[in-house]
Amino acid sequence: MGFLAGKRAIVTGLASNRSIAWGIAQAMRREGAELALSYQSDKLKGRVEDMAEELGSDFTLPLDVAEDAQIDAFFTGVAKRWDGFDVLVHSIAFAPADQLEGRYVDAVNREGFRIAHDVSSYSLAALAKRSEPLMRGRAGALLTLSYLGAVRPLPNYNVMGLAKASLEANVRFLAYDLGPSGIRVNAISAGPIRTLAASGVKGIRQMIAQVGASAPLRRNVTIDDVGNAAAFLCSDLAAGITGQVLYVDAGYNIVGMAFPSAVEDKPAS
Ligand code: NAD
Repeated sequence: MGFLAGKRAIVTGLASNRSIAWGIAQAMRREGAELALSYQSDKLKGRVEDMAEELGSDFTLPLDVAEDAQIDAFFTGVAKRWDGFDVLVHSIAFAPADQLEGRYVDAVNREGFRIAHDVSSYSLAALAKRSEPLMRGRAGALLTLSYLGAVRPLPNYNVMGLAKASLEANVRFLAYDLGPSGIRVNAISAGPIRTLAASGVKGIRQMIAQVGASAPLRRNVTIDDVGNAAAFLCSDLAAGITGQVLYVDAGYNIVGMAFPSAVEDKPAS
């Protein structure tokens, strides 16, 4: 029996079979969770329905987190079918393309800042608000996805780094408020992975190469690495963990400086 047996999990953020959310949904299903999947727009509906079917689910609903009415309708739809649920995965981020290229100080503007923070950070609180009543009496778990740009400047990541910093603070405030209701809130800070969202960041190829060459594990992470950690964090195995940001990045975040791996990898003689 899997360690998520008997749990109902909502996974947002599916756009393709490269999506981190797809790695998470697969791991959660493998561990026995019953799944509901959301799709952002009609364009993604068919694809997400197919993914749900692959995971033994026929429960899919539309959810554009930029619209309060859609968020409300989403939770009404969930409550029609489920009297409660245990897990919600927020795997959603967006910034306009012009924000993710060049110097932060040049690219940033009021509208880009607003949209990045609204879609990528506020949305977690919006979903948490509506999840609380449906998680009552259960060991609830909310999980979101962050990136190193939350704590360190990186080329081209720009305002998305600020939005991730806000998201990580959001995790701590939500964990503080929802803890007494038995709901845990955590984030995974994933290493760079080639997904649709990532390809919007200029230079993502170089970022991936740099991490693969200099992370302690000398590789990049996969959506399965993130999926397995997510399944753990949302399970009762992680019952004592809340308000945390867990790095799933092959250890890249601990490195202060790295020489090219070909030199570094020579075993000491
Ligand atoms: P992806 O493109 O597969 O997923 C992004 C998802 O966000 C899509 O499913 C898209 O539909 C959804 N989305 C965007 N705007 C939305 C809106 N208004 N309403 C509802 N959904 C919306 O890319 P991904 O890399 O799997 O991204 C998932 C999460 O992981 C994001 O938060 C991203 O910042 C984070 N992350 C990604 C990486 C990486 O390198 N790929 C690294 C660390 C963190």
